[in-house]
Amino acid sequence: MRSVDAPGDTPGAERGAADPPAVLNIAAIVPCTEAEGPGRRFAIWVQGCPMRCKGCCNPEMLPFAPRDAIPVDELIERACAADVEGVSLLGGEPFAQAGGLARVAEGVRARGLSVMIFTGYTMAELRARAQDDDDARRLLAAADLLVDGRYEARERTTTRRWIGSKNQVLHFLSERYDERDPQFRGDNQVELRLKDGVLTVNGWPLFGARRRLDDGRGGRDG
Ligand code: SF4
Repeated sequence: MRSVDAPGDTPGAERGAADPPAVLNIAAIVPCTEAEGPGRRFAIWVQGCPMRCKGCCNPEMLPFAPRDAIPVDELIERACAADVEGVSLLGGEPFAQAGGLARVAEGVRARGLSVMIFTGYTMAELRARAQDDDDARRLLAAADLLVDGRYEARERTTTRRWIGSKNQVLHFLSERYDERDPQFRGDNQVELRLKDGVLTVNGWPLFGARRRLDDGRGGRDG
């Protein structure tokens, strides 16, 4: 793990498809959670989001500021060593680092893990962008599940698993999961994990709980 040198060097900046970054700007990692998608998952929160949804649960992850610069290959190896069903990509905005995350998603999928993405863009916006953005097209193609749409505080819900507000939709993008599976129904859940004296809280929709407990740093593993 190394630091990103300057904002201009931030892997989180939107960029073209020609040279996908080998290093990602990461806000937090939880190596095993059961609250951010089906089964046990390696969850990656990227730093930086261009949107400003009122009531966003991760406001410290919105600036495109340098956090932890982690190579794509390291993320793949750590996820594959974590004894999990899949990887969940959250933020921040995953499609703001689409090139690097596409490489992560393709890498873990090739080794049998599933990929779930939580994005503020709508599926219609992503499909339009994918027409001429190869990074977005590859990331979309490597996803098994995707929750789309801005968080709308007035539409907040706690009764749809992994959904924060009623406008958001869980899309099934591959044959890996069946939407009739009971695990995709039911209320949202909150998960508390205590490791090495650090309490982390995950689940949707939380409003700053994880941030308060880990001070924006303790959510990642060592
Ligand atoms: S898209 Fe997600 S991370 Fe970005 S401001 Fe909205 S709720 Fe926050």
